[in-house]
Amino acid sequence: MKVYKFGGTSVGTPDRMKHVAELITADNEKKIIVLSAISGTTNTLVEIGDLFRLGNIDGALAQLEELRATYDPFIQSLLTKASNKKIAFKIVNQYFDEMHRLIHQPFYNQILKIIVINGELISTHLFQTYLNEKHPGSSGLIPASEFMYLNESEEPNMALISAKLESLLNQNTAYELHITQGFICRNCSGGIDNLNRGGSDYSATIMGAALNVQEIQIWTDIDGMHNNDPRIVDNTKSISNLSFEEAGELAYFGAKILHPTCIIPAQQFDIPVRIKNTMKPLAHGTLITSNQNPETVKAIAAKDGITAIKIKSSRMILAYGFLRKVFEVFEHYQTPIDMITTSEIAVSITIDDPKFLEQIILDLQKYGKVEVDVNQTIICIVGDMVAEQKGISSEIFKALEEIPIRMISYGGSRNNISLLVKNNLKEKTLKSLNSHLFNL
Ligand code: ASP
Repeated sequence: MKVYKFGGTSVGTPDRMKHVAELITADNEKKIIVLSAISGTTNTLVEIGDLFRLGNIDGALAQLEELRATYDPFIQSLLTKASNKKIAFKIVNQYFDEMHRLIHQPFYNQILKIIVINGELISTHLFQTYLNEKHPGSSGLIPASEFMYLNESEEPNMALISAKLESLLNQNTAYELHITQGFICRNCSGGIDNLNRGGSDYSATIMGAALNVQEIQIWTDIDGMHNNDPRIVDNTKSISNLSFEEAGELAYFGAKILHPTCIIPAQQFDIPVRIKNTMKPLAHGTLITSNQNPETVKAIAAKDGITAIKIKSSRMILAYGFLRKVFEVFEHYQTPIDMITTSEIAVSITIDDPKFLEQIILDLQKYGKVEVDVNQTIICIVGDMVAEQKGISSEIFKALEEIPIRMISYGGSRNNISLLVKNNLKEKTLKSLNSHLFNL
């Protein structure tokens, strides 16, 4: 058994949906197919929810009807038989009618969660209707809301997911293809919830881990993870093999192709993850496993929107407890720290969520002088950089000769060297590192 996940653009047009159907029926292997919403739908549902929350009922309903209308031509060109078109229209209208009804109710927060999952409900139903037309009897739909449970810490409840999913599959053994929704889950109180934006990758790796499958394939519109940002740097290359640690660092520090948390279940249960391109299905893509691979530096990624905070205390010399107090401030405001560098009298920390910045600064001022730099970018160099290896840092420093660096973090793990630069130097830094590290 394998898990295949297709994102919003891969199912974004009727032709692309048909192409996905071809890909998954090219062999007779049993598969679980996880789908995102058709591209654009979740964004629109979020906007509709916002209008509803702000009390703009007419605006929310108008946008809902606009979205409903986009499904008409989609169904018309996806399906051929009139009876299947009728089924598809009925399903889509049921979901839209229900959202229409909800928007007429008094607002409460949970409604937003119920609205936003409709994208995945609709895409999976349409896709399965198409499969039924092309390959009758080959596929069944399993609702994510019947097995994807989170626990009290909002983590996947793996034991429960595994038991529920196995039992659902056992009830449908006749099917080769099991279609299900990404993103959708239930929280620990049983309420409808979601795995956050872009969470379908996470759904797929949770399912793969829960069923201990042979491989999880994330199908997207690029041929794997690239060794630099292809939007900024020319001639980037797809990386054939990455370790879980390297892929995790890359996903967290900017490579948009994978949801950062999705590596965790695959790594925990040691299930290979392969990133594939729907447009080039024969290309190798990127294979992520527990193997460490020989090349030293594999990729460079950038994460924008970073704030750097420096806390300078003359009393830090030979003092202990200072760092604990600093960290406690961030813990109190539930603000994760990305990078950290220290000197004997100061510590610099970066965050990507400035929601509580003002309060954090006020609290930190109790311990020293605080300086803040906004609009920073973390440049992350990922690979297998064992401490014994010589030459990598000198190559990196050579590349950075012309670039003012705000922070450098090296040695935190063997897989990552991070630099902090002003956002307007991102392009120059990525290009210069690229030519020094990859085009030797
Ligand atoms: N549809 C959701 C989103 O757009 C989840 C996903 O596509 O991964 O965020």
